[in-house]
Amino acid sequence: MPSEPIILSLNGDGEYVLLCPVCGHDCSHIDSAFTRQGSDPFENGRYDGTEVRESSGWRRSALVIRVEGECCHNWNIVIQQHKGNNFVSVEILPESDG
Ligand SMILES: [Zn+2]
Repeated sequence: MPSEPIILSLNGDGEYVLLCPVCGHDCSHIDSAFTRQGSDPFENGRYDGTEVRESSGWRRSALVIRVEGECCHNWNIVIQQHKGNNFVSVEILPESDG
C-alpha cells in the first residue's frame, strides 16, 4: 500500500491549507470539480452542480476536484463513497506546460 500523500498543512492562523502532494508547495488553484459516475443503476447519481466526465469503476459515484499547483504539479482529490465511508485519495496528473 502506498504511503499517504500529505495534502493538508496547518498554518499559523489555525487554518488548513491544501498542499501539493508531490512537492508540498502551498499555492494552488481549483481547476474544476466533476462526477466520476458509479456503476450502480440506482445509486450512481451525478453530484449536484457537477457534470459527469468519467466512470468510477465503483458502485457509487465519486466527486473529483482537480487542482493545479503553482509549482506546475496537477492532481485530483477524489472522494469515493463506499458502504457509508467516503474514501479520500489523490491522483497525481501529468505536469502542466507551465
Ligand atoms: Zn508541486
